[in-house]
Amino acid sequence: MSTFTLLGTGSCEGIPAPFCTCKLCSHARVAGAKERRRRFSLLVDEALQIDFGPDTADSWRTFNIDETKIRHICITHSHADHFQPLDLMWRNALTGAPALDLAGNAEVLKMYDATFQKEFGHKPEKAINKPVFHDVVPGKTLILGGYKILAVRASHMKFENDAVNYLVTTPQGRKLLILADTGWWCQESFDLVKGEMADAVVVELSCGTHPGEDIKKEHHLGARAAMEFINELKAQNSVKPDAICVTTHVSHVPQTTQKELEEYFKDTFITAGYDGLKVEF
Ligand SMILES: [Zn+2]
Ligand SMILES: [Zn+2]
Ligand SMILES: [Zn+2]
Repeated sequence: MSTFTLLGTGSCEGIPAPFCTCKLCSHARVAGAKERRRRFSLLVDEALQIDFGPDTADSWRTFNIDETKIRHICITHSHADHFQPLDLMWRNALTGAPALDLAGNAEVLKMYDATFQKEFGHKPEKAINKPVFHDVVPGKTLILGGYKILAVRASHMKFENDAVNYLVTTPQGRKLLILADTGWWCQESFDLVKGEMADAVVVELSCGTHPGEDIKKEHHLGARAAMEFINELKAQNSVKPDAICVTTHVSHVPQTTQKELEEYFKDTFITAGYDGLKVEF
């Protein structure tokens, strides 16, 4: 068995969104727990983290994650809710920081370099404990530790054509498909994962569940579109018929509480994800 832990299930602002006085954010400030959402990131077992947003360190502390066991970090794209390099800088000042792989596209690696340069006044080449960089290219597989990580082109950013989703195969041979952030894929991406039979899927829910919004599939997904997407992947044997399917990347815009999401999905194959949820697959 392998596991994944949802470290953050919010979209770009999180919930409550900073300074927001909307009904949902006001409720989340008081209700706490599952009603609050950190920016998206996810941990596979103990060693592989997907994305590194501004709430990463808070997620580690809250959910008792020992980040010194993390050896590989793979970034999906350069949006600030998915990559905020500042907390990767501090490990450079320490002795004994563990070896770390950092995988991302050219824009992601540029962000790391720029942040480092700004903080320390020199290029990261001279740094102690600098991460080992790996280029993420859609269609290519990275092997990090015992993990096989296939980058699949997402349909997400207008100006970053190589934003990706990942299909992770763990050392135990379990497969997890991570669909955050994306709209409906291009055919090339569907073809790439044909026959992969993923055991679990984490899917984004940015557009929410309201009629009209639920069918949205451009750059992000609504609830019905997300289910349709997974059914399409099941039909071509990319996802097992009984795969575990969990939502993430929830926005405050649709004004839907976790309780309402649980109610909405209760007779479907989807589980409404929340921060701290740990799943065996
Ligand atoms: Zn995002
Ligand atoms: Zn709000
Ligand atoms: Zn994004």
